[in-house]
Amino acid sequence: MPVTTPAAPAAAPLSPSGTVMPQDSGALLRQDPEIGGILLAEAGRQASTLQLIAAENFTSPAVLAALGSPLANKYAEGYPGARHHGGCEQADAAERVAVRRAMALFGAEHANVQPHSGSSAVLAAYAALLRPGDTVLAMGLPYGGHLTHGAPGNFSGRWFEFAGYGVDPDSGLIDYAQVRALARARRPKAIVCGSISYPRHPDYEQFRAIADEVGAYLIADAAHPMGLIAGGAAPSPVPYADVVCATTHKVLRGPRGGMILCGVELAERIDRAVFPFTQGGAQMHTIAAKAVAFGEAASPSYAVYAHRVVAHARVLAAALESEGFEITTGGTDTHIVVADPAPLGVDGRAARERLMAAGMVLDTCALPYGDARGIRLGTAAVTTQGMDEDDMLRIAGLFGAVVRAEGDTGRLRAEVRELAERNPPYPG
Ligand SMILES: *Cc1c(COP(=O)(O)O)cnc(C)c1O
Repeated sequence: MPVTTPAAPAAAPLSPSGTVMPQDSGALLRQDPEIGGILLAEAGRQASTLQLIAAENFTSPAVLAALGSPLANKYAEGYPGARHHGGCEQADAAERVAVRRAMALFGAEHANVQPHSGSSAVLAAYAALLRPGDTVLAMGLPYGGHLTHGAPGNFSGRWFEFAGYGVDPDSGLIDYAQVRALARARRPKAIVCGSISYPRHPDYEQFRAIADEVGAYLIADAAHPMGLIAGGAAPSPVPYADVVCATTHKVLRGPRGGMILCGVELAERIDRAVFPFTQGGAQMHTIAAKAVAFGEAASPSYAVYAHRVVAHARVLAAALESEGFEITTGGTDTHIVVADPAPLGVDGRAARERLMAAGMVLDTCALPYGDARGIRLGTAAVTTQGMDEDDMLRIAGLFGAVVRAEGDTGRLRAEVRELAERNPPYPG
């Protein structure tokens, strides 16, 4: 059968707002219209809807350039100066820069920038410190614990005994007396602090004291706030935790990936737990992109950004409360807002469906009380786009109208599109 290549669409800019894509997007469209078309459509989706998923952000063109660079071709098992493959001079240089920048940015004695994701970082931290069957105390999944904090379908729930702490059902805040009581009763080998939806800062000093009292390691899973920490807009767990795990792609605004920070005494164990225990070759293009993101996060303008992200989340939380949503913990200290739409007559799932139909993309999440789900939103991406406090008020107003199913659906979708397109993530 003759193979026919579909006619290439005209090489047009990828989106009306000039959304950035890897340099050769025109060539990709011509060579592979099927995937090229998908990338084009995704760029259009990101530019015409509101990205309110708390774990997402828009990376810079420089980060995207590093991801699309020839370092993607390089095999580099091992660590700088000790690789299993030849030709690693530039790979070594890139990883050394990433490690140096991570250590400086977070004031850490040691950094491992190889974890492929936040989950890989947590896996390696457990592998470095624990044996299968050990007990770990972490935030319970119904309160915002991550899958790696003991979910039955995750390696963590299968290989370790998890005890879960919760939050006070009235305040929504971590109940440190309960954490301490559970630690005394269960004698965990490690305590994990960090969550996917807790909108307040963990009290790292209290966690440290509890861990010391029972002789446990303290692992901070700072996947969400790591960017706020980099910008000085959230307290750092580095002085308190034995190991800090994080992602590089949330508020931190780098490539999709993970990282681990620790003191010198655990450095070798952490490195061996990443490679060769849980991973193979390092993804050098991603590591170069992490270095770029760390460089960006060290700039004064990034600190302004991080503080703005929190200010925007506070404005959004207060405005959503005025719209009738119940805000867990009564507000936020971070980029995360968790809202219960029950007072508006729907649960989180129905609310999300309506909001998605209007072009506002977000997650549902567990609420600290009852079985109904709430919605979780974050301000990292919309703030990167350049939105301001007035835009947050507009978003809250749109939320109210959409969730209450007031007004014309088409008009609301058009308003969301206009707001998104007025603030292109990749102008120019
Ligand atoms: C996002 C997140 C992770 C996992 O990150 P992935 O890159 O998706 O594996 C782990 N822990 C917490 C607390 C997170 O928020």
